[in-house]
Amino acid sequence: MIDLQQCPVTMIKGVSALKQQELHAFGIFTVEDMLNYFPFRYEDYRLRQLSDVKDGEKITVTGRIMSEPITQRFGRKSKLSCRVMIESWLVTATWFNRPYLREQLTQGRDIVLTGKWDQRRLQLTVSSSEFPDKGNSRVDTLQPVYSVGGKITQTWMRKTITQTLQQFGEAIPEILPGELVRRYRLMPRKMAVRTMHQPQNTDEGKQARRRMVYEELFLFQLKLHAFRAITRERSDGVAHEVDNATVRQFVRSLPFELTEGQKQAVTAILSDMRSPYGMNRLLQGDVGSGKTVVAAVALYAAVKAGFQGALMVPTEILAEQHMRSLSRLFEPHGIQVMLLTGSLTGRKRRDVLAAMQEGVVDIVVGTQALIQEGVHFPRLSLVVTDEQHRFGVNQRSVLRRKGLNPDVLTMTATPIPRTLAITAFGDMEVSSIRERPAGRKPIKTYWVKHELLDRVLGFIRREVSAGRQAYVICPLIEESDKLDVQNAIDVHIQMQQALPDLAVGLLHGRMSATEKDEVMRLFSAGETHVLVSTTVIEVGVDVPNSTLMVVMDAERFGLSQLHQLRGRVGRGEHQSYCVLIADPKSEVGQERMRIMTETEDGFELSQRDLELRGPGDFFGTKQSGMPDFKVADMASDFSVLEQARDDAAALVGAELFWTSPEYASLREVLQREQLFQGEVVD
Ligand code: ADP
Ligand code: MG
Repeated sequence: MIDLQQCPVTMIKGVSALKQQELHAFGIFTVEDMLNYFPFRYEDYRLRQLSDVKDGEKITVTGRIMSEPITQRFGRKSKLSCRVMIESWLVTATWFNRPYLREQLTQGRDIVLTGKWDQRRLQLTVSSSEFPDKGNSRVDTLQPVYSVGGKITQTWMRKTITQTLQQFGEAIPEILPGELVRRYRLMPRKMAVRTMHQPQNTDEGKQARRRMVYEELFLFQLKLHAFRAITRERSDGVAHEVDNATVRQFVRSLPFELTEGQKQAVTAILSDMRSPYGMNRLLQGDVGSGKTVVAAVALYAAVKAGFQGALMVPTEILAEQHMRSLSRLFEPHGIQVMLLTGSLTGRKRRDVLAAMQEGVVDIVVGTQALIQEGVHFPRLSLVVTDEQHRFGVNQRSVLRRKGLNPDVLTMTATPIPRTLAITAFGDMEVSSIRERPAGRKPIKTYWVKHELLDRVLGFIRREVSAGRQAYVICPLIEESDKLDVQNAIDVHIQMQQALPDLAVGLLHGRMSATEKDEVMRLFSAGETHVLVSTTVIEVGVDVPNSTLMVVMDAERFGLSQLHQLRGRVGRGEHQSYCVLIADPKSEVGQERMRIMTETEDGFELSQRDLELRGPGDFFGTKQSGMPDFKVADMASDFSVLEQARDDAAALVGAELFWTSPEYASLREVLQREQLFQGEVVD
């Protein structure tokens, strides 16, 4: 059988070299691409009975012309109308700006009209009309509407797709395993592709779509799972040998009892680590839910099993902070923790690198600098990282080139509804911590308009005179760090003027690491009362004495970002507050502020954010782990995605999938993915 993916579009009759060029802009290179270029909607030219039609609907009906047409002119515009007998109704049909039709509207002639039905006036505003005596094509069909542009017109596209189906339709192979096609009563691929383009009726169209949605999601999941399986196969992953008693000893040394969610996460992680496979697990939980402690247990286990661990974080501030808290936890156990960031240079850097190389240091905390060339971990077996540094295939291969294949634990403080988690992180196992450590007071959140800024300033004064501290977060201007910095500088001046008796600090991304460090030190020590900052503060900063988070122009931030910011307070024993200053114009913007004041549960928040924005928009630009599906729609096809995930996992887990000729075409689909090429070769 011919491989349609190997056939260039020029093999289609009517596609010239010139058209071929035009088609490239639409991502169409091969016959297969052409066949998979599905319409995004259909125009409905199916005949209807007027009695079934609701007022205002767009319909196609047949009738007979009963009167001489009348033309009215209004300047350059014109209106043409005549009486048409449709079923037993005498209806007025009206055309705008098509005076040339007049001659064709002869009394007694049959006509097919498509247009908008005005039931009260018995009027039809016609958008297109045809005469059956001319032998018409569109009538009683669903016409595909493709996304077109440039020299590619709708008519050309329709014609060419029809031609492609004629020439190659019989060669469309089935790629889904027969058992799945049978289990879900899926339309065979050949028929489904044809139907997607030219459905006879809505029902058939739905069946075709159902099949293509399943196929798309199944293949997507299959790739993720197969990729994971291949990595596991190839991994000479570390099987950590560490017994429960040892781990328990460490957990007992913590100043608190682990929450149920933390315990479950630890159990899952330890079981991954003990297995010879490479772990790839996502740990999600709200800010303050205690993820870092869970990571610490995992790092402890790695060290006790005789290996080294690394904690990789996005900023130097965070690295330093984690360095301090991990040292505190690990020192009593004789475990060496060191810091490696980009700003560490010269002799100090060399010392750290040497200590790592010699295996003197057990745990390294740092930024991206950790996996750069020139950095050697002879016994690295566990990397804990965060969402922004989700280990991609590239980073893994950097490590693998160094002869390492560590277990990877990715932490995220952006709780994602489960259904989305399995889409975006389908290649990972997911652990979620839902509850917070006991004894935390809820943070009171208020939304105020700008005109109340004075009262907010009073609030800041009150908290500070009670011995507490406050953050003031500056608005995001746009995706421009420079403007954000300027803005922070302005707000800083404004705050200094408004609060002359208080010490107001300033923190932003353009400061050097030492400057930032000093600012944070002063704030942590309570020497500055108010810290004006850009969102560099967002991730992980921990000053338990700060109880007030003020966000300026809060409508500019996403819900999850606001949630992260709010998580900077409420970390100590005192009642904490979050004040959102915002005048959102849109309904959605106002709703977002309301949601912030109503819930503090990150999972609920993300669920509502999802409902508000829709899944397509949900991940924003930062976490663009969301794949772009062609047919499937995340809002309506969630359950299919879950089903597809289970099916793909089961298939990948079966020995037959890798060997049987039955699955050869499916394996080939995977091979085509660049993702695998590197993997399979190396
Ligand atoms: P996350 O990394 O999820 O934001 P952390 O691990 O930094 O959260 O924990 C936040 C704070 O809560 C830390 O000060 C930590 O010591 C404390 N903490 C963590 N787990 C518990 C627990 N089970 N009980 C009480 N306090 C805890
Ligand atoms: Mg392992």
